[in-house]
Amino acid sequence: MSERREIVIVGSGFAGSLMARVLAVLGYDVLLLERGSHPRFAIGESSTPLANLSLERLSARYGLVDCYQLAAHGRWTETYPSVRRGLKRGFTFYRHHPAASPDDPRRGRERLLVAASPTDYVADSHWLRADVDHHFVRQAVEAGVDYRDRVEVTHARIGDDGVELRARRGAESVDIRAEFVIDASGPGGFLARQLAIPSGLARTRTRSGIVFSHFEGVRLTSEIMPHLPPGPYPDDWAAVHHLIDEGWMYSLRFDHGVTSAGFVLSPRGMASLTSDGRSADEKWAALLRRYPTIAAAFRNATPTMPMMQRDRIQHRLTRAAGKRWVLLPHAYAFVDPLFSTGIAWSLRAVERLALGFEEARSAHRIPDKGVLDRYEQLLAREADQIDRMVAGSYEAMTHFDLFAAQAMLYFATVSYAEVRQRLVEDDATHPAWSGFLGVGDEVCDPLPRASLRRLLRITRDEGREGAPAERDAFAAWVARAIEPRNVAGLADPARRNLYPVDLDVLVERHALLGLTRDQLIAGLPALRGTAPERARSMAFAIGPTMASARNAGPTLNAVGNGQP
Ligand SMILES: Cc1cc2nc3c(=O)[nH]c(=O)nc-3n(C[C@H](O)[C@H](O)[C@H](O)COP(=O)(O)OP(=O)(O)OC[C@H]3O[C@@H](n4cnc5c(N)ncnc54)[C@H](O)[C@@H]3O)c2cc1C
Repeated sequence: MSERREIVIVGSGFAGSLMARVLAVLGYDVLLLERGSHPRFAIGESSTPLANLSLERLSARYGLVDCYQLAAHGRWTETYPSVRRGLKRGFTFYRHHPAASPDDPRRGRERLLVAASPTDYVADSHWLRADVDHHFVRQAVEAGVDYRDRVEVTHARIGDDGVELRARRGAESVDIRAEFVIDASGPGGFLARQLAIPSGLARTRTRSGIVFSHFEGVRLTSEIMPHLPPGPYPDDWAAVHHLIDEGWMYSLRFDHGVTSAGFVLSPRGMASLTSDGRSADEKWAALLRRYPTIAAAFRNATPTMPMMQRDRIQHRLTRAAGKRWVLLPHAYAFVDPLFSTGIAWSLRAVERLALGFEEARSAHRIPDKGVLDRYEQLLAREADQIDRMVAGSYEAMTHFDLFAAQAMLYFATVSYAEVRQRLVEDDATHPAWSGFLGVGDEVCDPLPRASLRRLLRITRDEGREGAPAERDAFAAWVARAIEPRNVAGLADPARRNLYPVDLDVLVERHALLGLTRDQLIAGLPALRGTAPERARSMAFAIGPTMASARNAGPTLNAVGNGQP
């Protein structure tokens, strides 16, 4: 069998499905191929404010009403209660020491909470990917995407005049000719194999492995460490990070009582556990024995699926785009789940490519070389930046003070980017083309590299924790370095590592955003989400699907912007 299509997308994770749907909205003929079938388990669940911002922009520009609803926990639960998620108010970090009890005196000092939102209603969510990815693929089909599951794309040949693909479903195989192919196959690396794209992993410093599952019955921190003073939000309704000697554990609580948890282990941490070739269950049990406070949280917990492990989770390629092809970020590179960068980065890339296709659709139909080059160069710089930020954080894990200081680089960079993108109009560049994680920002761009260098001097690249004076000097350097972007009042010793969303500080620091005090105050409602009115004014007249989406205005109005 053979057929002809305009665009083929390989892989229907949320990124592939959203990309397919936007292209269908723009009037492209899109075939979306998935080797598995939905609903299916996927890892990568914790979302962030920058991801929500992308969802809102996609909603506004292409009339994807559900994307607006899913961009805030309150709107999500009201409008899509069956798509399961977890409340995420911020980032919680604890340092655990081997054999330390829950009431160890270091607990209060070695705790960092950074709020990402002021209320539950406008908060981020952890995405139960089985439900969320299924939702997005159904929406893609509704928008006119031709979706086929249980189809494995096995061959690709990309020529000057078109793309030839071969796909298999059971015993059947089909040849597809297309104008353009988008690889959204994640670490499956479909096009990497087909085009023999060399690995770029040598550029990535971070190395980690993982042992993980989903669990029922994980206890709350407040039950295990009831003596901790109250933070800016309840500790557990966040991306919870337990830092340990071997690396760290993430714990993401969904609203229906299931928790996604995994130990992410440095090479040293991995080596300490793998010398006798332990299974995932044995590694998990060994780590819980070593850290009794984490063990107390999991004492009565049961995995809802078998424990899984991967010795290395990083991957990286040397190319991300060519004349008739492009890779989405997760097919191109992955560093580490620390700081939850994957979803936001993927959505940003979907936005960029959508803009490229939007520009091309009335002429040559596929993004031109300039757009694809720009996309590729930006992705490469961003992958390096994520790696430096994370690699520095692993270095800093040798001592909690170093880690808490290093984390300020991340929070200052993303909070500034979020507030700026929400409040400051930039006529020259669409915000999707601004660099992720400070890339291209004169202040933030160099910081992860400079910080990693400083940290390596302290740790001697041997995991040393440095002298108190060295750690203090590092924290002072971070505070000075982020000052021009510090709209959130970070790196403030008076906060004792507990950072709420503080609008007074934001107003006070209006000049960092190039705004007057009054301009900033007038813009504050936009921090709760792009208002539907503004969303509609941002929308382009892009065809019939868009027009029908605009007619969905009353739904948006009924939900309103921000608090119920
Ligand atoms: C351990 C770990 C933890 C993470 N935690 C977070 C986090 O907390 N927050 C965050 O933001 N990000 C996180 N990420 C990153 C996140 O998982 C990715 O950003 C996200 O999954 C990207 O989605 P996607 O749709 O691009 O690809 P994927 O979700 O990888 O989907 C790819 C799809 O392609 C299909 N496919 C593959 N090969 C083929 C083929 N040949 N033919 C047809 N179909 C194919 C697959 O079946 C799959 O459905 C994490 C990643 C890892 C590895």
